[in-house]
Amino acid sequence: MIKDGQLLNFSGGEWKRSHASEFLDVRNPATAETLVRVPLTPPEEVDEAARAAQAAFAEWRRTPPTERIQYLFKLKRLLDEHFDEIARLTTQECGKTLAESQGELRRGIENVEVATGIPSLMMGYNVEDIARGIDEHMFRQPVGVVAAITPFNFPGMIPLWFMPYAIACGNCFMLKPSEKVPMTMSRVFELIDQLDLPPGVVSLVNGSKGTVDALLDHPAVRAISFVGSSQVAKYIYSRATANGKRAQCQGGAKNPVIVLPDADMEMATRIIADSSFGCAGQRCLATSVAITVGEAGAPFRERISDVAATRKVGYGLDPEVEMGPVITAESKQRVESLIGKGVSEGAEVLVDGRGASIPGYEHGYFVRPTILDNVDPRSDIAGIEIFGPVLSLEHVQTIDEAIDLVNATSYGNMACLFTSSGAAARKFRYEARAGNIGINIGVAAPMAFFPFSGWKDSFFGDMHAQGRDAIEFYTEKKVVVERWPREWSRKF
Ligand code: NAD
Repeated sequence: MIKDGQLLNFSGGEWKRSHASEFLDVRNPATAETLVRVPLTPPEEVDEAARAAQAAFAEWRRTPPTERIQYLFKLKRLLDEHFDEIARLTTQECGKTLAESQGELRRGIENVEVATGIPSLMMGYNVEDIARGIDEHMFRQPVGVVAAITPFNFPGMIPLWFMPYAIACGNCFMLKPSEKVPMTMSRVFELIDQLDLPPGVVSLVNGSKGTVDALLDHPAVRAISFVGSSQVAKYIYSRATANGKRAQCQGGAKNPVIVLPDADMEMATRIIADSSFGCAGQRCLATSVAITVGEAGAPFRERISDVAATRKVGYGLDPEVEMGPVITAESKQRVESLIGKGVSEGAEVLVDGRGASIPGYEHGYFVRPTILDNVDPRSDIAGIEIFGPVLSLEHVQTIDEAIDLVNATSYGNMACLFTSSGAAARKFRYEARAGNIGINIGVAAPMAFFPFSGWKDSFFGDMHAQGRDAIEFYTEKKVVVERWPREWSRKF
């Protein structure tokens, strides 16, 4: 909710004005206009929200799961009713095209749908007669107050990777959305407010590092879910676990695809271009390196350069537009300077997206699609996450060399292969060291009922977001061993 140009927090079931001493402007990245001011919520207000959540937990965990999920059915209906309006808001604050905003919100809603299965999903198991007259049961109990800290690139979807499962399992949930895109969740929380959940079951605290640290250090918060850059993911994981909390921290990526000579080159080009330039390359599953094998090099290079040069860039609310801006002026500058770094390391710029100016949106943070060719796999640019619409091309002679390059990177979020050979596909699926694998797929995003996997520096923790992993993360297993003898040694 917005009041006097300032976003409010949602705490203890009420909208509250933060008394923060610092605020940040939230800007539309296509126009640079200020949309709203977001408070950097101080620790005492985080404490107030966490205490309200803790107070709500005792009763919420006793609410039967069949009742808890009724709130999610209602939430799904409200999200569907307000679908286009929320997606437009995402485009305004995040820059992606309206179709991309709609796509991510749909993915988020799918998590609400999956979490309505909690009465079955959180079942335990048991065995009678582990010894004579003794039975053993495993129950799942909610963890308590849990918090999620989310990034700028999917303002609608990523908070919904966590919230539905957390509350359906009987936890109380606190969200700290990205300070760059806090409006989408503010609107979603207005809908959540209409659910009449008990006060404290869900809360929204806006802010940046100080607010996050207050959550990481708060004794009432028992588990932390994080999605963002690897550097911050590692920090959050260390601090949360040092404080005795559970943590699942998803980090950054540098996703490679291999294109074999037997691939359907037209399909591969179209799909890889969508992966590299969709969401202006600001997707943790964006393809940022294409490794061509043997004769695939020349045709792929030619086609992808064509697609990159002709992609329509502009304001995401314009239906013609295929790619929006990057998130901030700093981000534009960073992406452009990394392209320069690539060039200084010996890469050849086939398509140069630097210095873009879009008529009517001259103040926007636009970078056009960029192709760097002959990138040396040992160069810095081959390993750094650029997080912009930049695709590096590397060329090798065999699939083994290509898989070695895939496995040499420090990240392990996604790796894809384009081929018409089943044997090559199986070899790749088996050998590639990444948590999400695509075969003739460019964005191998797991559905809500699968875990969003990620390996190496792309993930710190054990249980991933979504699906059954979410149930594991948001519940503690309690094992009960019971003796009910047929005869007691004395009468009761
Ligand atoms: P970020 O790490 O800058 O910020 C993420 C969150 O952490 C924000 O809420 C921010 O307020 C908070 N934060 C930032 N710095 C902090 C600090 N020093 N201490 C405590 N909290 C801090 O990430 P971003 O720029 O918002 O998002 C882009 C990154 O997220 C990319 O690296 C991308 O690959 C990654 N990402 C990963 C996944 C995944 O599933 N693995 C999904 C989406 C995005």
